[in-house]
Amino acid sequence: MNKPMTPKGIVQEELLLWEKGQKGKVGYSMPRQDVESAAIDSSLERAELDMPDLSEVEVVRHYTRISQWNFGLDTGMYPLGSCTMKYNPKTNDKQASLPGFTKSHPLLPIDCAQGTLRVMYELEKQLEEITGMDAVSLQPAAGAHGELAGMLIFDAYHKSRNSTRTKILIPDTAHGTNPASAALCGYESIPIASGEDGVLHPEQVKELMDEETAGIMITNPNTLGLFEEHIIEISEIVHEKGGLIYADGANMNAIMGIVKPGKIGVDVMHLNLHKTFSTPHGGGGPGAGPVCVNEKLKPFLPVPRIIKEGESYRLDENEAQSIGKLHAFYGNVGVLIRAYSYILTMGAEGLKKASQMAVLNANYIMEALKDTFHLPFDKDCMHECVFSDRDQKEQGYTTLDIAKRLIDYGFHPPTIYFPLIVNGALMIEPTETESKEDLDRLIDVLKLIVREGSENPDQLHAAPLHSKRRRLDEVTAARKPCLTGC
Ligand SMILES: *Cc1c(COP(=O)(O)O)cnc(C)c1O
Repeated sequence: MNKPMTPKGIVQEELLLWEKGQKGKVGYSMPRQDVESAAIDSSLERAELDMPDLSEVEVVRHYTRISQWNFGLDTGMYPLGSCTMKYNPKTNDKQASLPGFTKSHPLLPIDCAQGTLRVMYELEKQLEEITGMDAVSLQPAAGAHGELAGMLIFDAYHKSRNSTRTKILIPDTAHGTNPASAALCGYESIPIASGEDGVLHPEQVKELMDEETAGIMITNPNTLGLFEEHIIEISEIVHEKGGLIYADGANMNAIMGIVKPGKIGVDVMHLNLHKTFSTPHGGGGPGAGPVCVNEKLKPFLPVPRIIKEGESYRLDENEAQSIGKLHAFYGNVGVLIRAYSYILTMGAEGLKKASQMAVLNANYIMEALKDTFHLPFDKDCMHECVFSDRDQKEQGYTTLDIAKRLIDYGFHPPTIYFPLIVNGALMIEPTETESKEDLDRLIDVLKLIVREGSENPDQLHAAPLHSKRRRLDEVTAARKPCLTGC
C-alpha cells in the first residue's frame, strides 16, 4: 500500500490581527517628502477607524499562515461528489490576467471592448456547440442563479402563451437548489420518486404531468451518478402537455462530446463553469452558471445580448420579452475568460476525453470499493458513484466518521448524506484530473479506515486527530453560530 500522508512539523496557532496589533507599529514607509506640508481641511480628516497597527512582516506571516491552513485542489484530492473539483490549469489564470482584460472597465465605450466581447461571444458559441442548445447567456453568477434564470424563462414563456401554471415536477434525487429556484418563481414543487434502478420512469411522469404543471427539472446524469435513460420519452410526455424540460447541467462533466442535451428534448439548461469548465470554485470568489435555451425560448434570455455584426460586436438591450438583467454589467467576466481558455486548450477531442476519463475513474473507484461499502445501485456509473454506510453502521460508526478520518489521511472528504434517497450516502467524484496512483491511494485509505472501524470504532468517532481543528460540535455550531471570531 502507498504510504498515507501523515502531517509533520509546525502548525502555528494564529491570533486575530486586532489581538496582535500594538499602537505605533507601522507596516509601510512613505517616500521622502519633496513638497511643502500643508494643513488639511479638518472636515476631510478620516474618522478614527478601529484598525490594528502592525509591521509588514507580521501582516505577511499572518496571511501566509492562514493561506497554508487552506485545503484546495492545488493541495490534494478533493473527491466532493456533484461538485466536479477538477484541477484548474494555471494557463487559464494567465490568459485572464492579460492586461487587455484586467485593465478594461465595464463602462468602456463598446469600440474599446471588442476583444472582451469577442471572447464572450465565442464562449457562447462554444457552449451552444457542446450542449446542442441554440442560444446562451453568460450572465448568471452560479448554477443556482442559472436555475433561477431558467425558472423565470419558464414563467415568461407560459405567460406569453396565456397559460397559468403553478407546479413543477422535481425528482427525489434533485439538488436542493432546484426546488428552491422553483419556489423563488412561485412554483409549487411536486416530488417524483425515482425507480428501484435509481432513474426516473416515464409512467411516473405521466401520472403527475398536467396542464397546470410548468414542466420538469431533470439532472442528467442524476446525483446518483446514473444517466436518466428515459429522458426522451419523458420529454415527449411533458411537451405533449405544453410543459418544458429544464436540465440541471451540473453533471455535464460526464457527457461532454458524448450527449448533447439540446438533442434529447431539453428546452433550458444551466452549466456550471466552475465545475465542468475548470474555473475556480471560489473561496468567496465568483462562479458562472450560463443559461442555455433552445430556439423557442431565445426571446426570453436575459439582456444585454452580445450581437456580432460583420467583424464587430455590440450589446443589445432591446428584447421586449426578455426576463431582464440578472447581473451587473455582463456577468463574471474574469471567470468566463478562464472557461474560454480551458475549452480552447482542450479542443473538442480533449473535452470528450475528459468526460470519458471522468467516467472511467468513477467506475474504477466503484469497482474497487464495492466489497468494502454497500452500493445501493449496483450498475455502471457515470462520473460519480454513491455508496452507503449500511454495513459500517452495524459496527458502530458512520459516514460522518469516515469523512472526518479521511482528513487525517490528507483527503478532502467526499460529499456525504446526499443524495437524500441514500441513507448515509458517500458520494465520490474523482474527476478526470486525478492520477491512477492518487485514485489507488484514496481506495487504500478508505479500506484502511474500514479496518480501523472494525477494530476500534471509538477511534473513528474522535477523528480528525491531526487537523488544525478537531471535530466541531455541529449541533451547537448550527444552533448558536458565532460569526465574529468570538
Ligand atoms: C452544484 C450543483 C448545483 C448548484 O450550482 P452552484 O453553482 O453551486 O450554484 C445545482 N445542482 C447540482 C446537481 C449541483 O451539483
